[in-house]
Amino acid sequence: MLYLDNSATTQMLPEVKDSMLPYLLEEFGNPSSKYYSLATNAKNAVNEAREHIAKLIGCDSDEIIFTSGATESNNMIIKGIADYYGEHNQHIITSKVEHPSVLETCHYLEKKGFTVTYLDVDSYGRIYLDKLKEIMLQSPPLLVSIMWGNNEIGSLQPIEEIAKLCAEQNVFFHTDATQVMGKVFTDISTIEGLHFLSCSAHKFHGPKGIGVAVIKKDRNNLKTKITPLLHGGGQENDYRSGTLPVHNIVGMGKAAQLAFANFDQNVEYLLDLENHLRMILKAKFGDVIVFNSDETKKIPGIISVQFKGINNEMLIKNLAGVVALSTGSACSSSKPSHVLQAIGLHADGLRSTIRFSLSSLVKKEELDIFKQL
Ligand code: PMP
Repeated sequence: MLYLDNSATTQMLPEVKDSMLPYLLEEFGNPSSKYYSLATNAKNAVNEAREHIAKLIGCDSDEIIFTSGATESNNMIIKGIADYYGEHNQHIITSKVEHPSVLETCHYLEKKGFTVTYLDVDSYGRIYLDKLKEIMLQSPPLLVSIMWGNNEIGSLQPIEEIAKLCAEQNVFFHTDATQVMGKVFTDISTIEGLHFLSCSAHKFHGPKGIGVAVIKKDRNNLKTKITPLLHGGGQENDYRSGTLPVHNIVGMGKAAQLAFANFDQNVEYLLDLENHLRMILKAKFGDVIVFNSDETKKIPGIISVQFKGINNEMLIKNLAGVVALSTGSACSSSKPSHVLQAIGLHADGLRSTIRFSLSSLVKKEELDIFKQL
């Protein structure tokens, strides 16, 4: 079967699996224990993984906090800032196209008395910077949380410009970078106003159940403190207690090492694959199709397409034995997509949209299957 649902999850690379196996079997020590080699081997493996991930993100390794994935990282960062600083400022700015793990966290905080501004987006899913600036001046927020790239339509947000605004106004900036790791240049070392980042390993060929919350060290006048979600033994600089899942961390480290080493080659390949798929779809379906995202300023390998007059669920079900596709997010597949609604699609557009999400494991000739449908 041709797997084209890589925004939902990716296949783990064999090298990643091989790197993990020793830590599931003979090297089973707890990295927080001391003095004997089983423990120190585990600790060294965790540290090495931390270095690889830090290199991919362009942060220091002690700014990496391991979590169970981006859902936890988003919850931990947003609730953690709200709890730590909420007495002084209860305004948060986010956008209408965020992942549910950001939106639902914001809804929860609204019930606790916070005010959340949900920014509109243009027809390609990008926020309006002028509007953000205007709102920031009118009612200075505690936190701006805007995703780096969208999981349904692939559009990229102007992260550097948002970070600049946040730095000027002394506001915390968090970005959900889950969909862009290994596909977009994510070195945050030069992005001065970015304080927090979330991601998950399984979106870049690592294992499921492991992710990272990056908490940058204090910058300018801002002390990047958060209240932890999980209290306990004090692992991860006291930000996330619990025994570390060493095998998963090692797997995420290997996936990050490979994503970093093969970055240029992977991006070039994904762009080539995407162009090939666009050409096939245009030739086959002509005027029936409309691309929901533009061709630039988007994540390589994610395309969202409306097939006018065709029911997306029916098409996907009919193809299910041959190609794995989705209408949009796997996280909220039973509801009409809030992302497609935010970019202005109505009932027919919502019912006819299909997301194709590619990966470097897809072979170009495999896409020719769409010529035969
Ligand atoms: N943010 C974005 C943009 C995502 O695409 C996802 C996964 N669909 C998440 C957060 C949550 O990741 P996880 O399910 O690994 O916690």
